Amino acid sequence: MRSVHFHRHGGPEVLEYHDLPEPQPGPGQVLVRLKAAALNRADLWVRQGWPGLKLALPHIPGADGAGTIGAIGDGVEGLAEGQRVVIDPSIGCGRCEYCLAGQDNLCRDWHLLGETIPGTYAEAVVVPARNVLPLPEAFDEHAAAAAALVFLTAWHSLVTRGRVQAGETVLVVGASGGVNTAAIQVARLAGARVLAVASTPEKAKLAETLGAEVVIDRSRDENWAKAVYQATDRRGADVVVDNVIGGTLPHSLRAARKGGRILTVGNTGGPLVEIDNRYVFGKHLSIIGSTMGTLREFATVMGLVFEGRLRPVLDRTYPLSQAAAAQEFLAGGQQMGKITLAIG
Ligand code: ZN
Repeated sequence: MRSVHFHRHGGPEVLEYHDLPEPQPGPGQVLVRLKAAALNRADLWVRQGWPGLKLALPHIPGADGAGTIGAIGDGVEGLAEGQRVVIDPSIGCGRCEYCLAGQDNLCRDWHLLGETIPGTYAEAVVVPARNVLPLPEAFDEHAAAAAALVFLTAWHSLVTRGRVQAGETVLVVGASGGVNTAAIQVARLAGARVLAVASTPEKAKLAETLGAEVVIDRSRDENWAKAVYQATDRRGADVVVDNVIGGTLPHSLRAARKGGRILTVGNTGGPLVEIDNRYVFGKHLSIIGSTMGTLREFATVMGLVFEGRLRPVLDRTYPLSQAAAAQEFLAGGQQMGKITLAIG
């Protein structure tokens, strides 16, 4: 099968586009013939590598994908070859106490597809059968792939972990990346009032079209925590969604109300930041982290996507062979929503 993979870590130049042997589904697994993959920041970190990361090389990146079932392993029921599906990239073992309790994103042997196991930058991928969800007729594979990781992540963070309530004020730091465009919509669906911090006028406009009532352009207004105070009657936001962290967390601590929650699922601005702990205890703040979500949440949130109540934002599509160019575009940070790969 054609695939994009790397034999060593590095920049986009390490990505190769060649044939690799097609994987075979084992018991409980299915092979998905991919039509679309979607890029995530994690793809860049994995390609670059980090101390302690041990990968079987060559490695195929890519968490998100959609296509048709091409082969079915032993013991799989309820799925048929040729069926169109979208993949849930949060892979639990299915056996540990967390998986059995329905908290499979806390699995003791958890993997993100394409991070530590072969991913979706290929004509085919093998995943556990429980990790595919049938697509409704005519629902586009690119939209499905673009929605999967980011809406699952945003749903688990805001609804399950953050318990966002109707009438609350949710501040989303960042407005144009995949998770943040999803977070704005999930917060709106929960009945919250949404404020967003954007880094350019174009990204501010996107946040507005997604339902943000107040958008602060931080290229013009560096002290955005103060702007949040002014927009909330000097109260602060009930919930701050901060997936930038580097350069933003100190502002987020100021922008939250007393007793507020800071939700984080990532750190596009870098993981290390100095904080003034007096804000944390003095304001009774909770910093709540999570990654991905559960199988049940995936079915719930993708159902809302299929109904059109949540809408993936698509920027552009590259052919699989140009995955390196797609990753460079993502790394540049100018994208408005998701970047996808067309396969086959
Ligand atoms: Zn498990």
